[in-house]
Amino acid sequence: MKIGFIGLGAMGGYMAINLAKNNLLQIVFNRTTSKTKLLKKEFACSVSNSPLELAKQCEVIIISVSRDVDVLEIINEIKPGIKANSIVIDTSTVSSETAKKAASILSQVNSNFLDCPVSGGVEGAKNATLAMMVGGAEEVLDKVRPILNSIAKNIVYIGPNGTGQATKAVNQIMAAGINQAVTEALAFGEAMGLPMDKVIEIVSTGAAGNWFLDHRGKTMLSGEFEPGFKMSLHHKDLSICQSMASTLKKNAFPLIEMTLIDYQQLMDEGHGNEDISALFRLKRKNLN
Ligand code: NAP
Repeated sequence: MKIGFIGLGAMGGYMAINLAKNNLLQIVFNRTTSKTKLLKKEFACSVSNSPLELAKQCEVIIISVSRDVDVLEIINEIKPGIKANSIVIDTSTVSSETAKKAASILSQVNSNFLDCPVSGGVEGAKNATLAMMVGGAEEVLDKVRPILNSIAKNIVYIGPNGTGQATKAVNQIMAAGINQAVTEALAFGEAMGLPMDKVIEIVSTGAAGNWFLDHRGKTMLSGEFEPGFKMSLHHKDLSICQSMASTLKKNAFPLIEMTLIDYQQLMDEGHGNEDISALFRLKRKNLN
């Protein structure tokens, strides 16, 4: 069985390396070809010229690209050449609608689709400790679970296509709240003149402790906002959440709205490619 990977960005690059380390990756494609060098040189992966060329050779295709349009572009591109009964696993964060659309397109050529968004950041991708939430047919997941175990520590089957992405939306709303809470609280502490190293040390071991504080607390205080998770991508995810939330009830999700406004301001100021913890810039500025 041949396995291929499309999209060797911040997340995909590490996921592909972890698959290759376990001899579970044969072919890669990346739009910017320079990113394929390491996998070719260190792991002898072959490099395809296009997603279609890759799809023609693989039974399992894993995707990690940016946005809904990118996922659908790739699905439409591979459709004419994909083998029957092959399995496409999309780890990108996109809408439930896109996941359902991708599954429907591939079902026309008797191929399977799983929406498998991940959480855990670039660190999780690097250390193969990602949390993966899966939408699609459970028997299809069972076939690829041994492969996915090389990139994710915890894989939970949620339900039919689209439910993996809906679960990721839950995660992204929560991540927005945690970002708001941590950046605002640390800006408060700093403005109070507290010794912030000690504050982080003690707060992180109490009831307010969390992953974001542990991994981004010190760096945001020292003004380092290397991604991590790009603000423009979280903005994209929250726009998806906003659109999904609008089908439920208007004005019921102020956290989504507030974070979109804050991120937009920072993106307009040129910080869209920084880590989401750059929200701290705004919290600090608001106190001056
Ligand atoms: P990234 O570093 O910007 O990488 C994006 C990848 O997608 C690159 O390989 C890019 O190719 C490729 N790409 C984009 N549009 C494409 C298209 N139309 N055709 C072909 N390739 C295309 O992004 P990332 O951080 O790895 O994120 C990837 C996905 O995972 C996103 O959906 C993101 O929301 C999600 N995610 C990210 C994190 C995180 O912490 N970063 C965590 C969980 C989930 P080029 O190299 O040519 O640009």
